[in-house]
Amino acid sequence: MSLPQVLNTIDQVRTAVGAAHARGETLGFVPTMGALHEGHLSLVRRAKAEHSRAIASIFVNPTQFAPHEDFTRYPRTFEADLALLAGAGCDHVFAPAAEEVYPPGFSTYVQPPAVALPLEGQFRPDHFRGVATIVLKLFEMVQAEAAYFGQKDYQQAAVIRAMVCDLNLPVRIEVCPIVREADGLALSSRNRYLSPDERRRATAIYRALQTAADQLAHGERRGAALSVAMQHVLQQAGFQKVDYALVADRDTLAELEQVDRPAVALIAAHLGATRLIDNLLLEV
Ligand code: AMP
Repeated sequence: MSLPQVLNTIDQVRTAVGAAHARGETLGFVPTMGALHEGHLSLVRRAKAEHSRAIASIFVNPTQFAPHEDFTRYPRTFEADLALLAGAGCDHVFAPAAEEVYPPGFSTYVQPPAVALPLEGQFRPDHFRGVATIVLKLFEMVQAEAAYFGQKDYQQAAVIRAMVCDLNLPVRIEVCPIVREADGLALSSRNRYLSPDERRRATAIYRALQTAADQLAHGERRGAALSVAMQHVLQQAGFQKVDYALVADRDTLAELEQVDRPAVALIAAHLGATRLIDNLLLEV
């Protein structure tokens, strides 16, 4: 099992990808912030299954964090990440330096699409501007045929899809299922911030999402009632602050008064200093 080729500059990534394209190969790209887990690896495996080569990026993107957020303490585990990527069949890892991605004087940003406005957009106002900007930049640097994102970040995937459509970007976007722990907690790099007690309580997020699905299956169609039921589960488990727990339209992410079409339940909530997000597709 050989380690992936590590590429640290834009020149290096362009050369490696250019050589692959010259051989008639295609590439599947998985952008990440590192601290990798099975969720990320599922994307890499899918990229590798569908293309000659899989390329992952590891870059903790400063422009998507607000000043009070966890940019400086975000876990950085590069050597362990490399070994995990090797096991998943990843061919190249692009890990650029912040100075090359955002050189002095950098001032051009992507204005994110409308779907960025609700939910995360309300609680992390500049987050998707940073995400859309770095993803567009990475797409331009890597020039892969397809890029793989997780449904775990449901709104992020919707933002990327809309940006790719609106800006005519020549990349196919694939969104892959959420990988969960046995007890339902969605894998996340931020789970490692949780104390053992918080880790036990965190399972309430998935229980809350399932409560919404159960109640919907039993005929409760009022979005507000499903929202209250989810918040109740979270509060019982000791979540101090729930940013949102609601049912939304799958495309616009507007909250639904009546759940009369396939929808998505979404939660963002705080346990101690850690903010967790998750979601579940709902069928009617
Ligand atoms: P991040 O490193 O948190 O920026 O995530 C990189 C990619 O991995 C994003 O497309 C995420 O949606 C995806 N991802 C994160 N956690 C999971 C998970 N539990 N299951 C599937 N995909 C995930």
